[in-house]
Order: sequence, then C-alpha cells, then structure tokens
Amino acid sequence: MLIIALWLDTTQISTPVIANEQFHVVLDAGHGGFDNGACVNGVSEAGLNLQIVRILAQEFRAHGCAVSLTRTDSESLNSPYAKNKKVDDMAKRREKIRTLNPDLVISIHLNTYPLTSVNGLQCFYANETPGSQTYATAIQNQFNQSGLPIYKTAKPTDFNLVEHSPCPAVLIECGFLTNPRERELLQTASYQQILAYNIVTAVLQLSHDQDTDSRPAHS
Ligand SMILES: [Zn+2]
Repeated sequence: MLIIALWLDTTQISTPVIANEQFHVVLDAGHGGFDNGACVNGVSEAGLNLQIVRILAQEFRAHGCAVSLTRTDSESLNSPYAKNKKVDDMAKRREKIRTLNPDLVISIHLNTYPLTSVNGLQCFYANETPGSQTYATAIQNQFNQSGLPIYKTAKPTDFNLVEHSPCPAVLIECGFLTNPRERELLQTASYQQILAYNIVTAVLQLSHDQDTDSRPAHS
C-alpha cells in the first residue's frame, strides 16, 4: 500500500494533461466470451481487461476525448455459429475499428510467464502503421517516469488486432498475472486507476505535442 501511495504522489505532480475534444480513441478489452485469456489462481484476464478498459474510458472522457469500446460487456464479438470463434471475434473487432476510424486504438491485455518474479508493463505497436511506435514508447516512458514497473521496451507485434490497423495502434500488456504481487494490484481499483492515469497522460501529452508541431509557426 505504501508503494501505491508513492506512485499516486508521483503522478499527481506530473505535468497536467491537456484536453483535446477532437481526439477519438477506441479501447479494446482483450478476450471475452468463449475466451478467458490467461487464467491464474482463478483470476481471468478477460474480466480484468474489461475493468481496466472501463476505468481508462472514464479517464479519457474526463479529459474531453471521444471513446468507443470494441466490447462493452463480458461477451466476445463473434457469431456463436462461427467455425473459428477466435478468427471471427478478431475480424469483428477489426471491422468495428475500421468503421469508427479513430485517432488511436489501445488494446488491453495481461501477461503470464513461467518465472513468477517477472513483472511489469510492456507495450507493443503495429509496426506498419505510422505513429504506433511513438505512442507505445510514450506510454512506457510515462510509466518509467512514474516509477512503475516496466518489463521490456516497446516492441513491434503481429498480433492481428493492431496489425493492419487504419490508425496508430498499441497493445498494452498491463502486467503479469503470474506475479503474485502484481496479480493482487491488478485487481484493485486504485491500481487500475494508476494504470489509466499514466496511459491517458502519455497519450494526451503526445497528441498535444503533435498538434503543436503541425501548427504554423508565428512570425
Ligand atoms: Zn491477452
């Protein structure tokens, strides 16, 4: 609990984020329905991903952003009659993203590893979509600055939701369910809020900087 308090103090003194009413983000809670994702000691990834996404949505909306979700409840998007439910689920999510045509996609997942001491967040980005790496790196840097654990540096991924994305897309593995301490933290609303605060701070700071860069300089 002491460490949580320290993290909160650190985030409170970081640079205030700037509202950007034009910015539209799609949040994707990984897994759902027939697919629980990782499951460790009775804690399933699909449920926690949705909890984190809901808090993240609140935080983005509180800063004036438009937010859409790929899934809003525990169900996946596939047809119950689909031959391959996973393939159909991912196709429906990609289709939804293409229709919404947002500024950014953030897919939320949780990690596992045989070594239980391994912990921390890691971002993956759509290699072929410009801007994805910049967002992924900004989110990891924000975590670093706040003293939050990072597993490895941002890496490209061929995960098929963020691959072929029409806009910048980032997949965040928010922590390891196999690490007992992180598994406990990830289930608390306070830690989910810390995750959301840092993700939103990094994204809005970056989108604001990009807006400023693209504006003509005054003479
Ligand atoms: Zn996952």
